[in-house]
Amino acid sequence: MSFYELQCPSEWADPPSTWSSTTLDDVEACPRRWQLLRSRWGEHTKFPVRPNPAAAEGQIVHDALDRLTRACGQHGNPAFGSPEFANAAADADFFPGFTRAVTEWQQQLTAHPKPGPPFRLRVTAEELANRAVRLFREQYRPNGRHTSQPAERATEKMVDVMMLLRQKRALSEVKLKHPTLSFLGALDRVQVATDGVEIVDFKTGRPDEKHHHQLLRYAVLWWRTTGELPVRLSAQYLDGAASWPVAQGELLEIEAEIAARIPALTEELRDRPAKAAPGLGCQRCPVRARCSAGWANAEEAALADGRGDAELVVTMRPGDHGFLARSRAGAEVSVVYETAVAKLLPALDKGHVLRVLDGVWREKRSQLELKAWTEVFYVRK
Ligand code: SF4
Repeated sequence: MSFYELQCPSEWADPPSTWSSTTLDDVEACPRRWQLLRSRWGEHTKFPVRPNPAAAEGQIVHDALDRLTRACGQHGNPAFGSPEFANAAADADFFPGFTRAVTEWQQQLTAHPKPGPPFRLRVTAEELANRAVRLFREQYRPNGRHTSQPAERATEKMVDVMMLLRQKRALSEVKLKHPTLSFLGALDRVQVATDGVEIVDFKTGRPDEKHHHQLLRYAVLWWRTTGELPVRLSAQYLDGAASWPVAQGELLEIEAEIAARIPALTEELRDRPAKAAPGLGCQRCPVRARCSAGWANAEEAALADGRGDAELVVTMRPGDHGFLARSRAGAEVSVVYETAVAKLLPALDKGHVLRVLDGVWREKRSQLELKAWTEVFYVRK
């Protein structure tokens, strides 16, 4: 049976054995999405996500900016164009990273189970690099930053991380595990300030309260591993920073929350399927076509912003260039495609129910064009 016919995983993912801050947030946001993405689907060890070109390009630029932001923070935020900045860019594998990422995306797209004409990213690695440099230059403000000296990368086999910090004054990529909970984290940077230890996380996006929450979890890890309470937590953005003082009572609350959430979320992930949490996240959820609880949300959101997600009943047998169908709202939709795209369609017949992802609406939404990246999932034959 093809991937597009499978209605549920062939092997369900188990709950994670160790949890990071991101895992906690992801499972909390929607246990079902976490589970379906990591389950086996036929020959695929996990759900084979197929991004459209714009999403793939955006992800490459975002990942590169993320790497460069962290590397700059770890190098003490050097001025743009300085020799130390060049070292940070080299550490981040900034420019070579684009060529590698484009090649990897291309391989991933080629290996994807969807048949039909292949599509390539619309821009070159060089164009993506230029886009990332422009965004970085617009936002990077290195003056007056929280980190102004290079940090030493912490080793994997640290025996006494506190002693190492006292020697080096600043450490980067500090991997810590809670002594009693199945919880771990990698701290971007820990440094000795005049008033005590400061934990810094580097972020490319806009300030968000969830960054503070993540830093509090890191503070719990640092406190429980070293016995030393950090004095300050800082989220450093490209154009500024936000800082918060640390209180022991607050860390105790966060630790209690982690201790309660891990077993509760583990239980939720034992259900098959796990509980769905429909909401804003359904809009771009990669597994929305396989989630009965979130599909209506996803389809409505797509309609509102003009994206071509639709559940359709085939009303006329497909030809080389299209077929007629009925939407869930009862409207007639003519589905059109180029001959080469016809190959991507599963065998369709009158009465079959489909979910189309990432088509393109035309003619005031009476026509849905299937593109090379569009996916067509069977719901019922
Ligand atoms: S569609 Fe919505 S409810 Fe369903 S898995 Fe995705 S995020 Fe969760």
